[in-house]
Amino acid sequence: MKKFFFKSAKINEFRLWGLVSTMLGMLVMILGTAGIVFWGEAGRIVSAIFLVLGMIVLLASVVIYFWAGMMSTSATALQCPECNKQTKMLGKTDRCMFCKTMLTLDPNDATEFAQEEESHPAPSPTN
Ligand SMILES: [Zn+2]
Repeated sequence: MKKFFFKSAKINEFRLWGLVSTMLGMLVMILGTAGIVFWGEAGRIVSAIFLVLGMIVLLASVVIYFWAGMMSTSATALQCPECNKQTKMLGKTDRCMFCKTMLTLDPNDATEFAQEEESHPAPSPTN
């Protein structure tokens, strides 16, 4: 699966990165504010830079969330064959949001995957 590098469902992945960048942005802004408290006048420029950086990261997280929302509306809703839960997949290949099973809409990939599964043959009966 060279086309596929996400370890979880793509929507979950995007939500995770959105959350991470929100936290990061807030942390940077807190550090910037701390700059004023600890260094007074001298820290003012540094804290201004930190506040702007924090704002950019927070804006980026909003964009990521928005993007994830846009993508989840175009996602294919289907029932997972493994855990029978209703899940969403992006593109032709994605993982189940719950059990992380590989799901594909592409019959070629499906054949490839099936062959992979068959590469562990059942033990042949011995006499
Ligand atoms: Zn599942």
